[in-house]
Amino acid sequence: MKIIIVGGGIAGTSLYLHLLQHLPNPPAPYPPHELLIYESHEPKPSSSPSTSTSLSSPSSNSPESEPPTTPNLTPSTTTIGGGLALAPNGMRILARLSSELHEAVLAQGFANERFIFRSARGWRLSSMPCTDARVPGEACVSMSRMGLWEVLRGFVEASGDGEGVIRYKKVAEVGQGASGKPIVKFEDGEVEEADLVVGADGVRSVVKKGAFGEGYAPVYMNQAGVGGFVKGPLPDEVKREKGMVFTFGGNGFFGYGSSASEEEESLMWWSTYHTPSLPTSDDLSIPTITTELRERHAAWKDPVIQTIISSVADSVSSIYPTWTTPPLPHWGRNALILIGDAAHALQPTSGQGASQCLEDGLTLSLILSHYLNKVYNETDASEQSGSGVDLQATIDATASVLYAVREPRVREISDAAKKMDRGKGDIGVVGEMVMCGFMWLFGKVPWIAQLLFGDMNERLYAWDVDAEVKKGIAKYETEARTESGTATAGAA
Ligand SMILES: Cc1cc2nc3c(=O)[nH]c(=O)nc-3n(C[C@H](O)[C@H](O)[C@H](O)COP(=O)(O)OP(=O)(O)OC[C@H]3O[C@@H](n4cnc5c(N)ncnc54)[C@H](O)[C@@H]3O)c2cc1C
Repeated sequence: MKIIIVGGGIAGTSLYLHLLQHLPNPPAPYPPHELLIYESHEPKPSSSPSTSTSLSSPSSNSPESEPPTTPNLTPSTTTIGGGLALAPNGMRILARLSSELHEAVLAQGFANERFIFRSARGWRLSSMPCTDARVPGEACVSMSRMGLWEVLRGFVEASGDGEGVIRYKKVAEVGQGASGKPIVKFEDGEVEEADLVVGADGVRSVVKKGAFGEGYAPVYMNQAGVGGFVKGPLPDEVKREKGMVFTFGGNGFFGYGSSASEEEESLMWWSTYHTPSLPTSDDLSIPTITTELRERHAAWKDPVIQTIISSVADSVSSIYPTWTTPPLPHWGRNALILIGDAAHALQPTSGQGASQCLEDGLTLSLILSHYLNKVYNETDASEQSGSGVDLQATIDATASVLYAVREPRVREISDAAKKMDRGKGDIGVVGEMVMCGFMWLFGKVPWIAQLLFGDMNERLYAWDVDAEVKKGIAKYETEARTESGTATAGAA
């Protein structure tokens, strides 16, 4: 089976590794599997984090700081810079891929045990654990996005067939070829056919366009963020409590946490604010953005925030308008399947985008492997050329079960994030006080938060991919049997 993965980000690279691990070997006369990733951005030789300044000395005079650069802002979130936190459910999937991969990701990040919520007025409101209660040591790991991507890419390239698997070419269009199979057209005019094309190409996915045309365009959330990295001794709450600190104010939000091991002393930070006009490359000025950042947080009481904003000078390293994908009626048909942000770009507030990519990849691999195993075991291979009806039915069934299993999961996460997002915009003094009151109350009476948002361990971290896949396949097959029974009865 030939599978083309469009996009070599977190979803694309991890899907490749899952497929390698789970796809059954095809018996003769079926041809061996061929897996390829097409990625539009060739990696630069630099390593993460991309730009950092010093916490202890203002970077404008620091020899360590790089000159300010204008970020390559596209109307998507494909900002490779910046930091992210991989939740325990995502880390668990990495461990399942390989303990070495899990270790490598952990080694370049920082294992957080608590989320700490603060108010811009300087009050510590509450804190909650962010570890998986069922898996000792499985924490929420903060890191540079580039660092995670480099580890995943390294494992793809080091895998059995890995070298040359990631090809750096931009896909311009995806459609159906004359044979009925999906085809991928590249910017350079070349065309390639596959049995299955997986869109792991982010929120502005061309594969999604192939499946839906111009429909279901991403939605700008009237929110943008800036972020970066600063070097210097880690704040006490980060180091001692192993915490990520989230501060809410009437005019925005500020977060920080360690982006690497304690010894590296690298703090990632981000500031989110309400802006109805979509920032574009044309109206982007780093000095202006830095000035606005300082103005926005000038009165915020946390000395760590003050030190960060006075240190960043002109070197904000990532700027991102927030986009989400509207709910899709399916995640692909006709041998096109969407995963990751291409299928469901979530609000950054969810803290789950990357983990959901990893769950998608494992789910897709398990379902596809189940149906391929059926084809290989149950059909008379000598009568099948290896490319006929069975393969098509396999892919159709995979797409249906994937959607049935995964869509409710990401919808639930998105709904919870929407509630949290209300506290990140311009909410004014009254809104700020109400929010602070709630957050304080959540710390004192945790069951209220659980009532509103569900238990984080149960709701987010305990999701069992294998059990959900099993249930999804059983349900699909029961429905298929019922349908064929009804059709037979109708015919009789
Ligand atoms: C500000 C912000 C903060 C976030 N924080 C967190 C967090 O703390 N925790 C978390 O889990 N998630 C977080 N996320 C979400 C997370 O970053 C995304 O969910 C995740 O990166 C999506 O991965 P992906 O591989 O699906 O898409 P992307 O990361 O967008 O990757 C898509 C890839 O496809 C390539 N591509 C695109 N078009 C083409 C084409 N035409 N041809 C070939 N290649 C193409 C791109 O170059 C890119 O490499 C955050 C997101 C944002 C915006």
